[in-house]
Amino acid sequence: MARYVFITGGVVSSLGKGLASAALGALLQARGFSVRLRKLDPYLNVDPGTMSPFEHGEVFVTDDGAETDLDLGHYERFTGVSARASDSVSSGRIYSNVLEKERRGDYLGKTIQVIPHVTDEIKDFLAIGDGEVDFQLCEIGGTVGDIEGLPFFEAIRQFAQERARGQCIFMHLTLLPYLAASGELKTKPTQHSVKELRAIGIAPDVLVCRSEQPIPEKERGKIALFCNVRPDAVIPAYDLKSIYEAPLAYHRVGLDQAVLDAFRISPAPRPDLSRWEDVMDRLERAEGEVRIAVVGKYTQLEDAYKSIREALTHGGLANRVRVRAEWIDSEIFEREDPGPFLESYHAILVPGGFGERGTEGKIRAAQFARERGIPYFGICLGMQMAVIEAARNLAGMADAGSEEFDHEFGERRFTPVVYHLKEWVQGTHTVQRRPDDAKGGTMRLGAYAAKIDEGSLVARIYGTTRIEERHRHRYEVDVQYRDKLQECGLRFSGMSPDGRLPEIVEVEGHPWFIGVQFHPELKSKPFAPHPLFADFIRAAVEVSRLV
Ligand code: GLN
Repeated sequence: MARYVFITGGVVSSLGKGLASAALGALLQARGFSVRLRKLDPYLNVDPGTMSPFEHGEVFVTDDGAETDLDLGHYERFTGVSARASDSVSSGRIYSNVLEKERRGDYLGKTIQVIPHVTDEIKDFLAIGDGEVDFQLCEIGGTVGDIEGLPFFEAIRQFAQERARGQCIFMHLTLLPYLAASGELKTKPTQHSVKELRAIGIAPDVLVCRSEQPIPEKERGKIALFCNVRPDAVIPAYDLKSIYEAPLAYHRVGLDQAVLDAFRISPAPRPDLSRWEDVMDRLERAEGEVRIAVVGKYTQLEDAYKSIREALTHGGLANRVRVRAEWIDSEIFEREDPGPFLESYHAILVPGGFGERGTEGKIRAAQFARERGIPYFGICLGMQMAVIEAARNLAGMADAGSEEFDHEFGERRFTPVVYHLKEWVQGTHTVQRRPDDAKGGTMRLGAYAAKIDEGSLVARIYGTTRIEERHRHRYEVDVQYRDKLQECGLRFSGMSPDGRLPEIVEVEGHPWFIGVQFHPELKSKPFAPHPLFADFIRAAVEVSRLV
């Protein structure tokens, strides 16, 4: 049975709980243990699928088709363990399950209450797959004391109580604010946060203290004393230049040792940190820089394209260069010529997106890249834009567009080279979608296989002709236009195994122009950069050498 580490946060939000959890996962792996990371979110949305990227950052999609919290992306990038639907749950999902059972009569007429019915549902979630790995790390979203989070805290308390002694530990993240006026780090908020935890029956075994200043030994001792944790289990967490420093940085300050000590695992297996040392070496000794223009919609919010940002960094690691990605609002190109904006970049990426706003600008960016021979990487909506651009400007279909935009306006304005698919094959069965399906449940989601054309650019990049990538979209390029577009030089180099759904397009004779219907960024890792991102950055490096 797995050992459990429950990770909670206090004092303020955004302390980097997800990163600390992911780094701990990586360190336990480095010591030879198998791990799985989980996220429990207190919000009432059933899943983040319908939340705006402005609200919640990126939606991370798993192989098995769940739309989850972006922290699962961190977990996957740090551990290489593919996240599953059962690795993320929200209060909304828990309540919805409980209410469904109530309607079915599963509770045999009992009065349904938070304790035990909601907490039992949470505990059932925690127990999923507990025989599969050595450690399950479960992060509770939000901060201790939040009203919505209480059932989760109660559930982890009960869970630990019901398991054998020593099978579960609690790790709590807090902040030590620094008062410049008195030159002091303050421990009181941490003390209060731990007090709050203890009031609901949870005593932390490990305290991770975020601080902008070095934490003096004296303060560490004080925290240990007042919070009732061992001094060597008070772990300082300082700001890092790159998130990928986290595993080595946390190792240096003894996080993994403190966790193993709390489980009384002795002697602790020696860690092999070579994977992270190599990543650090590539980060620190990068030579040169490439500038990438990311032309999209949610440009103000760092987290909206989290995985793309990270995958670009990984592409840089693969080529030992720094990647400077700059986010450009595509709407600008609807008013102005993209040339002067885009000329100074070594490559252009158009990421996924929803809705019509800004799409004409993305089409113009794709046209600019195609005509000027600048590397272009179109992801999901970015591929659809590239296809529409080719249809309009190469195949003479001036009114080519996507049904998505017509749906928004409720009238037919375009010839739909990208259309709303209602039925498709997944593995061995057929998926059907009705127009009245609830929002969030109507997309082609999760891993799908694709067949790649021999001799194509993508076949060379992947080094194989059979791939599997993750999807999240409602619309598809219409295969009936394939021949027409291929004649103009837009090659359909990747298709679904049944040949009905275009998965990859590339422009023949262009140094690097690729559109993919899926999201390769979701599978990239710092120690295993996705081949498309690695090669896209390689192509950008080539351009940078020419100018
Ligand atoms: N809006 C497009 C669709 O639903 C693209 C989605 C995306 O880029 N993830 O097909």
